[in-house]
Amino acid sequence: MTGNGNDDRRNTVRRIAWPESRSRPVATPLPPSVVYRAAQPDAMDAQYLEGTGYTYAREGHPNAEVLAAKIDALEGATGGIVTGSGMSAIGAVLLGLLKSGDHVLGGNQLYGRSLRLLTQDLPRLGIETSLADPTDAAAMAAALRPNTRLILVETVSNPTLRVADMEGILGLSRASGTLLAVDNTFTTPRLYRPLEQGADIVIHSVTKLLAGHSDATLGYVAARDPEVALALATANASWGLTPSPFDCWLAERGLQSFQLRFDRAQANAALLAEALADCPGILRVIYPARPDHPDHNRATGLLGGQGGNMLSFELEGGRAAANALVRACPDIPFAPTLGDVATTLSHPASSSHRGLTPEGRAEIGVTEGFFRVSVGIEEPDLVIGELTRAVREAVRC
Ligand SMILES: *Cc1c(COP(=O)(O)O)cnc(C)c1O
Repeated sequence: MTGNGNDDRRNTVRRIAWPESRSRPVATPLPPSVVYRAAQPDAMDAQYLEGTGYTYAREGHPNAEVLAAKIDALEGATGGIVTGSGMSAIGAVLLGLLKSGDHVLGGNQLYGRSLRLLTQDLPRLGIETSLADPTDAAAMAAALRPNTRLILVETVSNPTLRVADMEGILGLSRASGTLLAVDNTFTTPRLYRPLEQGADIVIHSVTKLLAGHSDATLGYVAARDPEVALALATANASWGLTPSPFDCWLAERGLQSFQLRFDRAQANAALLAEALADCPGILRVIYPARPDHPDHNRATGLLGGQGGNMLSFELEGGRAAANALVRACPDIPFAPTLGDVATTLSHPASSSHRGLTPEGRAEIGVTEGFFRVSVGIEEPDLVIGELTRAVREAVRC
């Protein structure tokens, strides 16, 4: 049928026949397209010059932009970017801003992978690093060096929930002209907004509370200074740290209910903290809104009296009781993550902190009986009932 001049078949492989409609979808569309076509070279040229529109998804796509704008609004940021994971958001900061010979000062209780980047990967690239206690601004100040380019802290530490001296750290970042990056994953913009307080960079693992359903791995980073922001966006595209449209779509959908979820989870956490504190067999409960928290006054000032959705507790009876506790509450997933709609339980000594020596763990109070709870949005009675019953069973063993 070819070559006879009468063939009216056409190549439809990449002809998009999307039905026209005057009305528009209410939910965000999800184009998975890797590439965008332009009408002619002039149009392509113009788009590059304006810096708007899309060409290739690694350079940017609508779902990432929609999600970033919504997180920007929560954080009081402009021009934030979405990355393929929380770690790639941190990666964009490190790769985009540092060069060999620089020094980075980190909090000594950062997320485990962040600690690993600082202690093992950056030195390999000729970048000096050191760690100091962020609850002690004088210790942080003493660790600054003339070549310190970046300070990286978390406001509330994992899993001991210590509250950083943010006022002191903000002051020394200003006084020394060092960029301050805050990983705001634990606190979320519902408790603390680093840029509004004077930090230079805010980072999220969107995977956690912002997306909230444990079905998308994503990160976010925004900077106050447009030049810094451009360096982050460039690192994101050049190192291929960028996210998939579908993950962005899921996270944007999850984000619609973030504030409701957060408030409910926080209210549940306060109730659970109270119930656990009254439970025989519990040696201590760590929750920033409780008066017996070691940084209670600072937490009250920094987080406005709120405690968040994370709490930790120490069970008597060591590893045997810890095993028994997890077996006794099958409806609370034992899973090392946080921020899910469901309450989840993690045991740092066997997961996130297994790399430390027992002495190193003891130094920060992470014993074999230490658990971290990410409180979810369930009916509070159900979670409190199950966990307190499990504690009673576990310490009887
Ligand atoms: C989970 C987490 C990260 C890493 O995020 P991913 O999305 O898992 O890459 C970074 N910082 C904190 C505080 C986290 O909890």
